[in-house]
This record gives sequence, C-alpha cells and structure tokens, in this order.
Amino acid sequence: MHLADILALRPVPAAGLLMALTRRCPLTCAHCSTNSLLTSEEHPAEWFARFARTIEREDRPEVIMLTGGEPMLRPRLVADIAATAPTMVLTGGFFAPRVPAALAGVAHVSVSLDVHHQREVPQAKVFRLVHALAGRGTAVSFHVTGAGPDDPYLARTIDTVRREFADRVPMLVGRVRAAGRAQAWAPAEERAPADGHRPCTMAAWPAVSPDGTVTACCNQDVIDHRPVPGHLRLGHVATDDWRSVRTRCLTSPVLQAIRTGGPQWAAGRSDGGYCGTCRTLGTTAERPRPAAAFLEQQVVRAQVGAGPEGFIRRYGEARFAELVMLGRETHAV
Ligand code: SF4
Repeated sequence: MHLADILALRPVPAAGLLMALTRRCPLTCAHCSTNSLLTSEEHPAEWFARFARTIEREDRPEVIMLTGGEPMLRPRLVADIAATAPTMVLTGGFFAPRVPAALAGVAHVSVSLDVHHQREVPQAKVFRLVHALAGRGTAVSFHVTGAGPDDPYLARTIDTVRREFADRVPMLVGRVRAAGRAQAWAPAEERAPADGHRPCTMAAWPAVSPDGTVTACCNQDVIDHRPVPGHLRLGHVATDDWRSVRTRCLTSPVLQAIRTGGPQWAAGRSDGGYCGTCRTLGTTAERPRPAAAFLEQQVVRAQVGAGPEGFIRRYGEARFAELVMLGRETHAV
C-alpha cells in the first residue's frame, strides 16, 4: 500500500483508524510531540486487541495506522492488528537494521527521519532497515521532519534519500510542532486560515489514544487532555466496538459540520481560534444543517480530488508535497 494511496484516503470519514498503542518509547528525541519515554503510560494490550477483533471484514477501515510512542514496543499487538485490516506502522526504527518478525504482515512501514532521531538511530542503520523491508516487498516511506521549508537539513536529507533509493521511496515532509518536548522551544503555528471557514480533515479518522480513549481527531491537545469534549469522544477500546465508533464518527451532526466548514463555521462565530472554538462546541452544531450529508460529501469529494499532495499542502510542508508520489508509478497496489 503506497503512501499516496493511504494519504488519498485521509479526508474520507472513517476510511482509516489511527491507533497509538502505547506512549512508551526507547528513544529520547528532543522534539517528541508525545513526550514519550520508556517509563511513559501503557495500558493493557488486551484492550487494543479486543477492539481490533471487533473489526469485521465487510466494514473494516481501509487502513489502520499504528503510532505511539513507539508501536513496535508491542510487536505481538502490531501483528494481531495487522491481521484484521491493511496496516501502516509509523516507527522511530529503534530496532534498525534488524527487521522484526511482527512486520511480516504489515502493509506499509514509515520510518521517522530527522535530526533528532538520527542522534538516536544512525541514518545508515535506518537506510539498511528500509532497504531490507523493500526487498521483502513491504511498502515503505520516510516521515521527514524539519524546522521549516528552508531548513538545510531537509534539502540535504531529501537529496540523500532520493539518491539512496533511486526515487522509489516516498517521503512525507513535515515540520516540528510546538507540542510535547518541543513545546518549550518550537514556534507555535496557526495552521488554519484567519476566517477558519475551512473543513477540518483531522476530524475524518477516529484516533485511539494511548489510554484507550477513541477521539474524533488526532490533535495532540485532544489526545493529551482529559476530559475529552463530548462531541470529540467516540468511545473506548475496552468497551466499544469498531462498528459503533465508525457510526458515531459518520453520523454525529457536529463532526459532520466540522468536516464540512470547520469548527468556526459550525459554531457561527470566529472569536476563539480554530481548535479553540472546536473544543467549546456542544454535541450538536449551532449552524442549521438542512442538507448536512450532501454538503459533507461535496467537501470530501473536493479534498479527495486534490489528492495526497493537496493533503500535504495543507497539513505538511507544502514545498515538498510532490515527494509523497515518489515510486507511485512502479508500486504494485
Ligand atoms: S478543529 Fe477540532 S477536530 Fe479539527 S483538529 Fe482541531 S480539535 Fe481536532
């Protein structure tokens, strides 16, 4: 499953499921957005495995994206989840260059590459890992992060990866966000336009937090703070099943409104910032929605039409958006 095919699904409600299997991580990267350490929180694997077992073939997500912390600290859980639906693992690659057996059934492996990770896992080891995975037929990509589009590290690393892998391995290029351990030093950034009347694609895929709570978005503030606002809480992996989580995601009027026109459009006011306004919404949007489903479909269609590059232009480093397409022509879907 090529990176571009996964990102093409990102605007489609409930087409994917994000699962943070643990907050623990053996690496201590200075920019870690989840503030992960080996001693961080971790909850029973059975909660996550139970939820994965509720996924039925006929209404399974088209992709499950496993994150953390470091998801590969729970290899058995990764293998169990990968047996239920096509699965992507986002990893820091602490095990490089060895390929863990748990990755055998995984559809896509994306490895982090940035100046902070490279201090923990040398680039040469990461490259050997990605060569080994690609050699076994696993789809691979890099998640490259820098300080901004002009960061010389990005230009240098992108050039190195393109040469090393002959333009066959795609890259998702992003920026260090002011979250987790980077909160104290990374610049805060307003991602939404001033009027805020743009759909929030982040409300499309349910996201499982390390504590098992299922939220309607993967915004780090929502993942980290409790209680979760009612309209953003979809359930818990210890007690709910995929079908009910998916139904709540698809049919909640307020989530439909956020996905259609953004939280400020849904609220009919624009004084609290983009996500700030979202967190104050009730379980029903204030704006009337006489044709909510139809409107949402039009908006989703437009975003899907913009393709994976359109998604990166909005949520990643726009200058490097086309890198998500590398290797797409030669990739067997
Ligand atoms: S607007 Fe709401 S749904 Fe979208 S990222 Fe912000 S908090 Fe999440």
